[in-house]
Amino acid sequence: MLLTKFPRISLAHLPTPLEHLPRLSAQLGGPQIFVKRDDCTGLATGGNKTRKLEYVMAAALQQGADTIVTVGALQSNHVRQTAAAACKLGLGCEVLLEHRVAKPTDNYLNSGNILLDHLFGANIHEYPAGTDFNAAMDDHAARLAADGHKPYIVAGGASDKVGALGYVNCALELLGQANERGLIIDELVCATGSAGTHAGLIVGLRAMQSAIPLLGIGVSAPQGVQEKKVFDLAVATAEYVGAPGCVQRTDVAANCDYIGAGYGVPTDGMNEAVVMLARLEGLLFDPVYSGKALAGMIDLVRRGHYNAAQNLVFLHTGGSVGLFAYADQLQLETGIATAERS
Ligand SMILES: *Cc1c(COP(=O)(O)O)cnc(C)c1O
Repeated sequence: MLLTKFPRISLAHLPTPLEHLPRLSAQLGGPQIFVKRDDCTGLATGGNKTRKLEYVMAAALQQGADTIVTVGALQSNHVRQTAAAACKLGLGCEVLLEHRVAKPTDNYLNSGNILLDHLFGANIHEYPAGTDFNAAMDDHAARLAADGHKPYIVAGGASDKVGALGYVNCALELLGQANERGLIIDELVCATGSAGTHAGLIVGLRAMQSAIPLLGIGVSAPQGVQEKKVFDLAVATAEYVGAPGCVQRTDVAANCDYIGAGYGVPTDGMNEAVVMLARLEGLLFDPVYSGKALAGMIDLVRRGHYNAAQNLVFLHTGGSVGLFAYADQLQLETGIATAERS
């Protein structure tokens, strides 16, 4: 495997910290829980898309692009980070936003990520749920090209084999940090959506001969669909990076039991997890991805999936800007009681 052969531009604050969460660990009474702070990648409040964009935007520049075209849900963290990266690189940014959540609130429509997309001056085009976005992005790019532009299409979530390199690199970074402090990681847990994070991590781990189990907690698709999406991208990424065949189908595990009513729809577990991490550790998680994944991990700990001698690392993929979009849906009074906090 040779990562350095790929063009890359620096967008993220790296390495991100690896931190112990002593109060959450004590509260749950199970394994020691650590968090890999990819919410601190730095670009426009950070998040996991920034690592991917280091490779994707480098590819766009290499091809002479002057305009980025990408896609996401209305509250897409990916779109926000892409719009910021485009500004930093002096590129235009055309964004196709999908109305994926039924009955959106005013905050959902105007605050959080979308407010920042406007601040970054992205050209926003809204589409109904279920639009064929590959076709829509192709059309859009064709129109830009006809006007003399050089468009570059960035996949949803920057999840293609180029973007996944960012998480191959994250796996190497994490292995180095764990090694430095003598930490044995018994399981790595992350949210899994458009699959680039999950796929890149598993390629990075296995290409380095690490057997650390990786569990993705799904936020949108059912388990079979999600695992196939991750595996297919992992196979392509492994080949691309020069480690073909390093990932087996059995290396890819997704638990999709914590989605609730659907993508972006709040759950009680998410609400509890977001409040708990805020009040125990002073950390911000988001309602759509990291909060639901955390709710899954907390539930698995409570069900005894891990023992007290183990170490879990949760990859914090960011997204806290989304809290503002959900301002009137979070149940702050139902969280962890004050007496439990000390
Ligand atoms: C996009 C995103 C994810 C999911 O990552 P994928 O690579 O799309 O699977 C998780 N958390 C946050 C906050 C995200 O924005």
